[in-house]
Amino acid sequence: MGFVIDPPKQASVAVHNSEDRFPVRRIFCVGRNYAAHAREMGHDPDRELPFYFTKPADAVVDNGTEVPYPPETGNLHYEAELVVAIGRECKDATLEKALDHVFGYAVGNDLTRRDLQSEAKNKGRPWDTGKAFDHSAPCAEIHAIDQVDNIENARIWLSVNGDIKQDSNINKLIWSVPEVIVNLSGLFTLKPGDLIYTGTPEGVGPVVPGDVIKVGIDGLTELETKIV
Ligand code: MN
Repeated sequence: MGFVIDPPKQASVAVHNSEDRFPVRRIFCVGRNYAAHAREMGHDPDRELPFYFTKPADAVVDNGTEVPYPPETGNLHYEAELVVAIGRECKDATLEKALDHVFGYAVGNDLTRRDLQSEAKNKGRPWDTGKAFDHSAPCAEIHAIDQVDNIENARIWLSVNGDIKQDSNINKLIWSVPEVIVNLSGLFTLKPGDLIYTGTPEGVGPVVPGDVIKVGIDGLTELETKIV
């Protein structure tokens, strides 16, 4: 059996210290997972359960790749995020076993057409045009979980053209990585190849063509993206 058209190319992310790549199946993203970012977006972080949106697998962009400024926006925003790569199928995970399903961690940038997202919020519409566009998920190489120390207390920062714009710590996540896996795996059967962008701290803002965005998390490979 063949296919009536060429099958889509498998989306993938580089893996630290490996020639092989991590195949991407789905991209889940957590909304408002740092209290100070929830407040800057006009919400009360204390009263909200985690919620999710998705991006297509082929929205991933390799480290160092130039990203074209996307169409139909005048307000493209960066969002520094810890990315969790799922390596084993996971349904109704428990807190104790949640990390057993994780292949590794990476540094990501949840690029957002903020004007389209805001319009969607105001009209009660889905966020897809604001969040799930082409090239919207830059991701640096994945580090295997057993090669990462103390990610739960790692600094997370982002700079634009060398100026620090976001500077926080993974320990400020409202919902920790294990808690997100427990909650999300109750809603969806997580499968090998799924990525979870875990949310961004405060300090989000716009970028324009020519800007160079760098994102870092202690212990992981830095992510650099130039907007062109
Ligand atoms: Mn985000």
